[in-house]
Amino acid sequence: MKGSSVISKRGISLRKLNIIMLIIAVVTSAALIFAMNRTNNLYKETHTITQDLLQWRQDSYNMKLASDYLTEEIRCFAVTGNKDYLDNYFDEAKEKKRREKALDSLKGFHRDSAAIRKLEMGMTESLNLMKIEYYSARLTIEGYGMNVNDFPEEIRSVSLSEKDLSLSANDKKNEAVSILFDHSYLTSKQRINEDMNDCLDKLEQDVYVMQNEMASKLSQQVFIEHILTFLLIGIMMGIVLFTRILVFNPLRNCVELIRKEEEIPLSGAYEVRFLAKNYNLMYYTAKETENKLNYDVNHDPMTGLFNRRGYDFFLNNVDMETSALLIIDLDHFKEVNDHYGHDVGDKVIKKAAGILLASFRSQDYVCRLGGDEFAVIMIRSDSSMKDLVCRKVELILKKLNDNSADESIPAISCSVGCAFGRVGLKAQDLFKRADSALYESKESGRGKVSFYTNNTKSQ
Ligand code: GH3
Ligand code: MG
Repeated sequence: MKGSSVISKRGISLRKLNIIMLIIAVVTSAALIFAMNRTNNLYKETHTITQDLLQWRQDSYNMKLASDYLTEEIRCFAVTGNKDYLDNYFDEAKEKKRREKALDSLKGFHRDSAAIRKLEMGMTESLNLMKIEYYSARLTIEGYGMNVNDFPEEIRSVSLSEKDLSLSANDKKNEAVSILFDHSYLTSKQRINEDMNDCLDKLEQDVYVMQNEMASKLSQQVFIEHILTFLLIGIMMGIVLFTRILVFNPLRNCVELIRKEEEIPLSGAYEVRFLAKNYNLMYYTAKETENKLNYDVNHDPMTGLFNRRGYDFFLNNVDMETSALLIIDLDHFKEVNDHYGHDVGDKVIKKAAGILLASFRSQDYVCRLGGDEFAVIMIRSDSSMKDLVCRKVELILKKLNDNSADESIPAISCSVGCAFGRVGLKAQDLFKRADSALYESKESGRGKVSFYTNNTKSQ
């Protein structure tokens, strides 16, 4: 709660946000790359398993093919007595060895599986069958009167039973053939076939289980990849959104307000707020300087009253036709300077300024025209207010004469000339009238107010 209020007050730091986003993006990207790599491996494994299954099928088929081939060749030899068939038989059994190779190949993949055991059983059965086949071959050789020494050791080492030895050549031939077609031989052949088929079934079962496992792992991986991809998309959208909310919009707002030369409200990221804060500070400093310069231009630094420039401005901009203008000049002020010094003279001017400011309404304009001369523009005033002006001047004179608060400042009086505006009367003419009235005050003894009349001598 405390952290969130600090963030909402100071704004989110773009630097920190950037680092956090970067870390999340890097971690998510790394996780995605890892997940993709894993998916790829799983796919390869699934592919390999399928390839292996095809290989196992081929091996199993080769074993059956080799076994059938041996049977076929030995039978042909028994039926025809043609030695080529027996050569083919031994070529397969000793040289090509397709059964052994198939078994070795399968063992390489499936060392301990039930499928291999089935295949081994088939192999054992096949080897057992070979003993019968050697026996049959020996009988055939005997039947056809061939030299047994021309045949391999396996045949030579076969010893025929007493009963078979006593058979005629023809019977030996017949017996050799019948051995290869009798019930026991066929049953063995069938068992070999069954073992091969069982092996294949078991292999397929294994592969089915493995493929199922792979498929479920693959679907999990794909799910994880989807989540990570959505997360990355979310991060990208987040970056765009955050940039818009925290940077783009506040900056655009800043540019508009700077163009309008207005204060910028604090919003957006910490860095943008920092910029806005500093701009606002510069903005206020510049504004204050500007105000101060304006003030200095229009004000008298010693008294704080409007100066001559301010007075001229009012004369040209205030409705002087409905205003009264008073020109006030301190009497014998030079003597104050001469007797008391310039500093005391300044104090007298300041005192007079204070008294004048306090004597008129806040909407009236009290100005120092220069030296010991002042002007007051009383707005919305006409000749009906002569008495009021008289009372005000009386009070001013009384205050100027009173130095009980600070006896170092000498008592002084002032002369006032007053003229009232009239429709069609120019401001400069109004001033001339007030100035003439002032002259009259000075002439007629000072320390009083004179109003301009048609009889007032113009200056
Ligand atoms: P009068 O009654 O006719 O007005 O006589 P006066 O002596 O007041 O004469 P005047 O108004 O012409 O003199 C104004 C004097 O004010 C002249 C000048 O030396 C003095 N003065 C002008 N500015 C300042 C100022 O800022 N400080 C001081 N101490 N004296 C000033
Ligand atoms: Mg004077």
